[in-house]
Amino acid sequence: MKRNHLTARLCLTLCLSVGLLAFYGTSARGSEPLEKASISFRVAPSVWSDDARFEQMLDMFERHPGATDEITFFTQTTHAPISDEELERRCEILQKRIAQVHERGLRSGINVLCTLGHHPEDMSQVIGPEYPRAQTIDGVVAQATLCVNNDIFRDRIRRIYGAVARTGADYVWIDDDVRTGHWLDSVGNSGSFCFCDACMALLSEKFGKATTREELKEKLGDPLTLTVIRQFASDSYDKMFALIEEVVHEVDPKIALGFMTGERYDEGYDFTRWAKTLEGPDGDKEVYWRPGGGFYDQYWMAGLFDKTQQIGRQIALLPPEVKVIQSEIENFPYQPLKKSAAITTLEAVSHIGAGCTGAAFNVLTMNEEPLDEYERFMTAIAKRRPFMDVAVQKLGRAPNVGVLPLWNKNDGNYTNRTPVQTLTAGIMETGVPVAFDYTQPADVLLLSRNYLDHLRPEDAKELFKKGVYLDNDALGLANDPGTYALNDLTGMEYGGMITVDGIEKFTSHPLNGRFGERTRDLRQSFWRDPIIALHLTRPGVEILSSCVNYEGETQAEAIVGIFENPLGGRVCVNGYYPWSNFYNYPKQAQIRAIMRWLSKDRLPGYVESFGQIYLSLRKPDENGRFAGIAINANYDAEENVAIRLKTEKDAITVYDYDCEKRVVSASDVDDAGYKLFVIPEIKAWEAALIVVE
Ligand SMILES: [Zn+2]
Repeated sequence: MKRNHLTARLCLTLCLSVGLLAFYGTSARGSEPLEKASISFRVAPSVWSDDARFEQMLDMFERHPGATDEITFFTQTTHAPISDEELERRCEILQKRIAQVHERGLRSGINVLCTLGHHPEDMSQVIGPEYPRAQTIDGVVAQATLCVNNDIFRDRIRRIYGAVARTGADYVWIDDDVRTGHWLDSVGNSGSFCFCDACMALLSEKFGKATTREELKEKLGDPLTLTVIRQFASDSYDKMFALIEEVVHEVDPKIALGFMTGERYDEGYDFTRWAKTLEGPDGDKEVYWRPGGGFYDQYWMAGLFDKTQQIGRQIALLPPEVKVIQSEIENFPYQPLKKSAAITTLEAVSHIGAGCTGAAFNVLTMNEEPLDEYERFMTAIAKRRPFMDVAVQKLGRAPNVGVLPLWNKNDGNYTNRTPVQTLTAGIMETGVPVAFDYTQPADVLLLSRNYLDHLRPEDAKELFKKGVYLDNDALGLANDPGTYALNDLTGMEYGGMITVDGIEKFTSHPLNGRFGERTRDLRQSFWRDPIIALHLTRPGVEILSSCVNYEGETQAEAIVGIFENPLGGRVCVNGYYPWSNFYNYPKQAQIRAIMRWLSKDRLPGYVESFGQIYLSLRKPDENGRFAGIAINANYDAEENVAIRLKTEKDAITVYDYDCEKRVVSASDVDDAGYKLFVIPEIKAWEAALIVVE
């Protein structure tokens, strides 16, 4: 902690001296301001092993200043671990490459693609059979993934990470093969955490008695068993991280260590612990993080934001001293037209909105070809770099705020994960910001049955003191007399099912505003989701939507209801496509109004005008200053994008995507203190940075 204070003071002095008053990283979980985004390009052997192509790449980056700060070298292209000797040979070449990059004024480091190994590819090059492989619970041997719990593996770690550290690298990345979900074989069967004989012996110690794979398999559904396995996985990886830290920092204590994660729960999701381990025993080494996910093409654009939400959750629990958070931007298999340069760049901006402080672009070729066709990526990134830099300055490491889709890192198990993505995606599309850190208080909770199912009754009851948005599945469990029996707090219960021809009809309730009596038909004959009628069990429930048929006859009086319960909590139960299809104005407006009502007017802000604008907002500092990013996720430009913000300030600063700055004054303020700010235009698939200062 001492170090942080000193660094903070030093940095503040420096920042003041160069006039960079970027305060926004200083709030709550952040500790010191960030000067700019951290941008890296990851480069495959097809580029670095060829002298001419490598020089071509360096020249291209020189033509596009700002496109990157760092060149990061992949040790290999394929995903099976190669021999220690081969890796050492490659490190000799990379030592020269790193020096060449340094000469061009950029930073450079190495990305170890296979520490354990991802899956079988190019098996003629795979490391020898003397290295023990991981095994599934059925005893199936993974062909290209190593077990971590043996001395042969630890000797390998010493050897290869020692070689990597001696190249003069500024940083070393551990890729995301340190996980449980590798592929076993060449047809893609999924692996798991290792249950080889050595691991079973260690696991038996944890269980306190000798356990076979067969016995363990029988008990895999048992939450306690899963907890022990996850803890064991976390311990095993943690031990490996400690060894890597020791080996690398023995060579050079200044090398930053980075780890790449995905949204996976089986291996323990112990990011905080692992980050601390990588910081070394004195906690003074720099750690980088690379949250990732799969968004490899632009065929389905919602995938971009799904990944952003996954990334938000990966970052949410990281310690504040982790400052370099480069989102993984990957265009595998790197055909340049699969994901445009514009979308590749916007992806980085979107992830910055969710908490990243930079991006690692893995978009250049892995083929034997010149790089000309890839220059478009450098051009696009360099063009948006000023926007990214200001965004990172203003957003810093302040946590995202908004409604909280409930999740927990310990929720995952082998068969039944909390569908937190389902809860998040549709709500975000309405322009309501979401929070990711479930350890921080939130006023509005999005609740699934799977999440509720994990809770003790007293904890479930606590939830209903807040604002809770839920569907019928969660409602049924909340009311279940054998478990939670929360009828007094929900005010509603299941009241029957409409399976054909049900149309939502908005009531004239004030929350529906000018959209009372409008209808929304999701054509049950095509999408056969049942509509849930709500039975009102307590006085005071108010109805936002009813259900009618094609003749206009009422099928159910209530399908969306709200209730303020005796504990002061507020509840909304939605029985009609509760998590999706919010693409017309009445429904979009209704969802926004519901979220604000649930928060008792504490929601930090939301988009008011019609349009598909993703809005991320950060926690205000002690002076009420905060920032956020709005992205127009549609192919139509939106004019007059109206955003309501809870703020004392009468004007905000808006940076457009070209980083042009303008002041926008509040054009309205309502009774609850929400001010209306209208951004003249956000073009299709562009972003605006909102700064309240
Ligand atoms: Zn093992």
